[in-house]
Amino acid sequence: MSSHSTSHPWSPPKGSWASSAANRRSMRGNRSRDTKPELAIRRLVHAAGLRYRVAAKPLPKMRRTADLLFRPTRVAVFVDGCFWHGCPEHFVPPKTNPGYWEGKIAGNIRRDRNTDAQLEEAGWLVLRFWEHQDPAECAEAVAAAVSARKGQLQRARVLD
Ligand SMILES: [Zn+2]
Repeated sequence: MSSHSTSHPWSPPKGSWASSAANRRSMRGNRSRDTKPELAIRRLVHAAGLRYRVAAKPLPKMRRTADLLFRPTRVAVFVDGCFWHGCPEHFVPPKTNPGYWEGKIAGNIRRDRNTDAQLEEAGWLVLRFWEHQDPAECAEAVAAAVSARKGQLQRARVLD
């Protein structure tokens, strides 16, 4: 199951801690309700002429999916939610059962680092952004990275 809440509005299971409005607010950090950072980044990257897959697995055996995937240049982009991925600026454990949530988020962070390590080992470039970052800056960084990788691949082919 994806831990990202940006593709679809996230709705808490009935009766869970998150069904209170206060907790939903703390989960979203400081962003406004209708901001969809991942969508904004995707739109901008697309407008820059780049094509990518959405929510695709970089490695068939690994269960993680990247938010934007550039298979030919092997660039995997993740837009991490401030709550689920433990943003140092915005993660605040819910008041109900904070220990559980701290443990859960710590586990997510470990999984993220493990994902990065596996991808890098397989020759992928991993780009991670927080949902609170400026989408235009993120999109620029993505475009620059993909274009740099394209250049590297072309040079490598010339040398072959
Ligand atoms: Zn944040």
